[in-house]
Amino acid sequence: MRAQVLSRTGQPLELKTLRDPEPKPGEVLVKVAACGVCHSDLHVMHGDIAFPTPGVLGHEMSGTVVALGGGVTNVAVGDRVATTFIMPCGACASCWRGQEELCEKFFGLNRLKGRLYDDQTRLFYPDGAPVAMYSMAALGELSVVPATDVFKLPEGLALAESAVLGCAFFTAFGAVSTTAGLSVGESVAVIGTGGVGLAAIQVARAVGASRIVAVDVADDKLQAALAAGATDAVNSITTPAPDAVKALTGGGVDAVIEAVGRGETIVQGVAMVREGGRVVPVGLAGASATANIPITHLVRRKVRVLGSFGARPRIDMPVVLDLAARGAIAFASTVTRRYRFEDAWQAYTDLDRGQIIGRAIIDYSL
Ligand SMILES: [Zn+2]
Ligand SMILES: [Zn+2]
Repeated sequence: MRAQVLSRTGQPLELKTLRDPEPKPGEVLVKVAACGVCHSDLHVMHGDIAFPTPGVLGHEMSGTVVALGGGVTNVAVGDRVATTFIMPCGACASCWRGQEELCEKFFGLNRLKGRLYDDQTRLFYPDGAPVAMYSMAALGELSVVPATDVFKLPEGLALAESAVLGCAFFTAFGAVSTTAGLSVGESVAVIGTGGVGLAAIQVARAVGASRIVAVDVADDKLQAALAAGATDAVNSITTPAPDAVKALTGGGVDAVIEAVGRGETIVQGVAMVREGGRVVPVGLAGASATANIPITHLVRRKVRVLGSFGARPRIDMPVVLDLAARGAIAFASTVTRRYRFEDAWQAYTDLDRGQIIGRAIIDYSL
């Protein structure tokens, strides 16, 4: 098969031929239909997040099942599926606690070493040299995925666009519903209205939020946020965002979703939430990035800052898929750009330059 390989961090992706991967027991082989273009991959490409090379990135995927390893019963050959970027092992202490997003094997074997849960990769060059896998390595034409992470798509969902369900919408659902615990009638601000931010706005609307304030530095992204269901838009370059949000909501929002991954925007979030409110940072940053939060403001006002990483695949992804099937989230509308498989590097370059409104996908059928 062909794959877009990161040979060294800081260099463009390269189109290479790899051996066709094979699933082992408990795994599924998927013919990839589309891969979403996400900032987390960019952090790895730039070397901000450590990951072994050569490696195949791509962690937001949809496709069709083409083969099953032994013992797999939750999907069948021919099923149209989406996968979540977190691949729970299903057997570690975190998975047993229901905290699948903290799966010990996912971090210890996949994120650190680029391998699946027998401590081996499924990807090799024709000469047998191993290639690391970031999540399921969706930037290859074929992908081996643990069955715990493969979800059959409901009828009627667009296959390629469904790729964005497994990271952008999955992460947004985890942040808005599980971590922030946003409930009917509450207000929320979403800082950063890229792919995850737009998804968070849609999820907030789906759970019945009253006021949804979009905060960004780009007017075109704020327009997209209003189209996605935000009730208000604040440009934080032309307006002090905390003041604007507090004025709109009579003293601050109940919750903030911070989808940028910068210290300044986390501090903004702490300043715009009501007393006792929740600030949920969801954007990854470079390993050394910090946020300079005023201590007395945090303590006296009982502001809670709650990190949120993805969501719980087997608990939350069925809910995300149900929201999509019922039209409660218009996920396909967030996909604004499509790139050919051969042009994957261009897609990440455009994302890096801030030129993507909403989400871009790499569509393998183009
Ligand atoms: Zn992602
Ligand atoms: Zn686990």
